[in-house]
Amino acid sequence: MFKLQNYINGELVAPNSNDYIDNYNPSTGKIYSLIPDSDSSDVKAAVKAAKHAFPKWSLTPKEKRSAIMLKIVELINKNYDKLAEAEAIDNGKPMWLAQKVDIARAASNFEFFATAILHFASEAHMMEDKYVNYTRRDPLGVVGCISPWNLPLYLFTWKIAPAIAAGNCVVAKPSEVTPMTAYLLSEICIEAGLPAGVLNIVHGLGPKVGAEISENDAICAVSFTGGTSTGAQIARVAAPKFKKLSLELGGKNPNIIFDDCDFDKMLATTMASSFANQGQICLCGSRIFVQRGIYDKFKTAFVEKVSKRRVSHSLDSNAQQGAVVSKSHMEKVLSYVELAKEEGGTVLTGGTQVHLEGEYAGGYYIRPTVIEGLSFDCRTNQEEIFGPVVTIMPFDTEEEVLMMANSTEYGLAATVWTENLTRAHRIANELDSGIVWINCWLVRDLRTPFGGTKNSGVGREGGFEALKFFTEPKNVCISVG
Ligand code: NDP
Repeated sequence: MFKLQNYINGELVAPNSNDYIDNYNPSTGKIYSLIPDSDSSDVKAAVKAAKHAFPKWSLTPKEKRSAIMLKIVELINKNYDKLAEAEAIDNGKPMWLAQKVDIARAASNFEFFATAILHFASEAHMMEDKYVNYTRRDPLGVVGCISPWNLPLYLFTWKIAPAIAAGNCVVAKPSEVTPMTAYLLSEICIEAGLPAGVLNIVHGLGPKVGAEISENDAICAVSFTGGTSTGAQIARVAAPKFKKLSLELGGKNPNIIFDDCDFDKMLATTMASSFANQGQICLCGSRIFVQRGIYDKFKTAFVEKVSKRRVSHSLDSNAQQGAVVSKSHMEKVLSYVELAKEEGGTVLTGGTQVHLEGEYAGGYYIRPTVIEGLSFDCRTNQEEIFGPVVTIMPFDTEEEVLMMANSTEYGLAATVWTENLTRAHRIANELDSGIVWINCWLVRDLRTPFGGTKNSGVGREGGFEALKFFTEPKNVCISVG
């Protein structure tokens, strides 16, 4: 069976323990590769390599750092289908989706930050003609990046690319559930000539590898994307050490549909915002609020479309939805459907496991699910399910829907459908979330700030925000008078 290796100091190496963890294919439910079960000693070796590489890398001209990163882009594009297939098999998503979204975005992340660093200027502030301040932005040193399983290479590179572009050296941990494309990235980095130690990838479990990254005194910043409780655990460990922290956490996003919307456009996009990537995107709109005038029309059209959605394995080019990432995740998602019923909800479509045939009989498939009849403040409507399950609720007024939309502990993203421009601005202003999409969803310009309010996280990624996170400002004030 294929064994993945850690990437430390420019080399592919076995974990010190020589122990491995099973890696499952969610489409079949079968083990198909082995992942290093690394421990703190592997992280310490990665930190040592990163510390050693840092002085030289941080002093390497940004044009040269940029050129190496663009070589990585070239190699991602050269290995595009191999990466997409690996991502689809590891995660359960349809391969066409991995091609269209995950791998395309991994290449764009490197390309964007390889070029952004060339335009990242420092500020100067004049004080009349007596003093001048200029602000240096220096790399931090060794930084940690920890990412989740839903968009594996996409989110892994979203952190690594700005970190190394800014001159830092990285110790990174992909999710143990979806490690394959991170492993393939380490092969690409070797081929691209990334100097040894600039990027180190340590595979393994969160409580061992992730915990050591959060704790290790030589790691001065941690960029984390994942669940809110894991984010809180990392903050508990890292904050007393005064590490810089960027935390991109969970969401329970509202999708607000007014009766004056462009119905067909809204319906098509709501299918995607509800179920894309099996509903496993932190930005999915899992609470759908529909103004009463079109509630019945929406319900009929939406349920009809959802019930026809084809659920199949990741290599089926006609699959609209694949498997969810793991057996335990499937059980968690289905347990929320049971909870919804206990809370008085009615399942309009879906709500059960899908059993495919043959090789795929053991896969983790869930029928896309629509539930109605729940109160906005029940657990189903407050807790993150992170699967192909949405609820629909009617509303009458703007005030009412804003109250319900803002009622959760999360504040990541929101979607609003209306043709009334004034109302669109008014609602966007009142929504307590880091991102608002009006008459669209998941449109991403990499220059814009990305992140959430409340328990959805701390800090913003994207554009110069990310380069600011991965650099330390130092103000120098000079008397010129
Ligand atoms: P987790 O929080 O379980 O895991 C995320 C990463 O943290 C994994 O690499 C995990 O390792 C690691 N980890 C686990 N425990 C620790 C620890 N004690 N110390 C350090 N690291 C640890 O999230 P999931 O992987 O389940 O991802 C789903 C979550 O991610 C959802 O809540 C979703 O909303 C959120 N998310 C947020 C996004 C955003 O931008 N705001 C984007 C995408 C997802 P291991 O895999 O071994 O457990």
